[in-house]
Amino acid sequence: MVDIKSLSLEELTEYIKSINESAFRARQLYEWMHVHLSRDFDSMTNIPGALKDRLKSECSLTTLAIETVQTSKIDGTKKYLFTLPDGNHVESVFMKYRHGNSVCISSQVGCRMGCRFCASTIDGLVRSLTAAEMLDQIYAITLDTGLRVSNVVVMGIGEPLDNYDNLVRFIRMLSNDKGLNISQRNITVSTCGIVPNILRLAEEDLKITLALSLHAATDVKRKELMPVADAYSIKELMDCCRAYFDKTGRRISFEYALVDGSNDSDEDADLLSSLAKSVGAHINLIPVNPVKERSYKRSSAGRIAAFKNKLEKNGINVTIRRELGSDIDGACGQLRRKHKSEGAN
Ligand code: SAH
Repeated sequence: MVDIKSLSLEELTEYIKSINESAFRARQLYEWMHVHLSRDFDSMTNIPGALKDRLKSECSLTTLAIETVQTSKIDGTKKYLFTLPDGNHVESVFMKYRHGNSVCISSQVGCRMGCRFCASTIDGLVRSLTAAEMLDQIYAITLDTGLRVSNVVVMGIGEPLDNYDNLVRFIRMLSNDKGLNISQRNITVSTCGIVPNILRLAEEDLKITLALSLHAATDVKRKELMPVADAYSIKELMDCCRAYFDKTGRRISFEYALVDGSNDSDEDADLLSSLAKSVGAHINLIPVNPVKERSYKRSSAGRIAAFKNKLEKNGINVTIRRELGSDIDGACGQLRRKHKSEGAN
């Protein structure tokens, strides 16, 4: 079956021509899928019945079904658990900010990166998502809320740079002016730091923001938290960040989850400041979310404030990630796990 919703407009045009239809049908189909967010061929009213029948027999039109949605009474944040066409589950989050509506999407079912504080990786990787499955998280949320999404962060379940080709395809389709036309400047990709793929991404001529999950300022401490640190040293990562900036002109941000007694000392803050300065990075501090299966504890509010202060005194641009949806299963990958432990897949 042709995964028609993952095809770029050029590829769709090729396909449509290959079945002896004219190119304008491809433009119509693309608009139905990526602007009107149609969920079946039957609703595409200007497509002739014979073509619809052919498409139904040759193509799959990927849609995600909402399994559950939880809405925060505090701030309106919505957490979605989606069922994929093969029965797997991923989660996405809809958040309202002053500057617009933001959606956090998953890029894989599970993850094989093994970060010790993360719930998504506990049972490893099941599979990567297709471009259509990434897009449809945003489409389904747009339809459900009736609100335009202006910002997308790829920070849900999975390591986006471990699903490189589909990720780049997804970004190009999402920002295409024949689709939802979300500005690349409003798209953020978060990675645990797969150096060769960061360098590859730098060559794609994209205007996205790259967030690097650093979480430690020395190799020894990073290795305790993130197995990927065995493959790439902090020095290699910083060289790679500089190369990314030089090539794209886009500033990188560092994600830094504060784990009690592990990476939250004043000395850590000073070392982190030097790293951030060396690549001109902005730092986003995340109070670590407790994960049931893990023993890590979040730093105290006082320690978080002191850590932030220290960075600021060192002249670093720093924010603390706002916690939204704290009354619903907030933290990364925990909704899917909860669902799984209740007997589903
Ligand atoms: N794999 C990518 C993107 C998904 S994780 C990455 O590593 O960046 C998105 C962010 O949430 C990462 O910075 C990740 O380290 C962080 N994260 C994961 N589990 C967390 C937890 N329990 N508490 C706080 N942040 C967490």
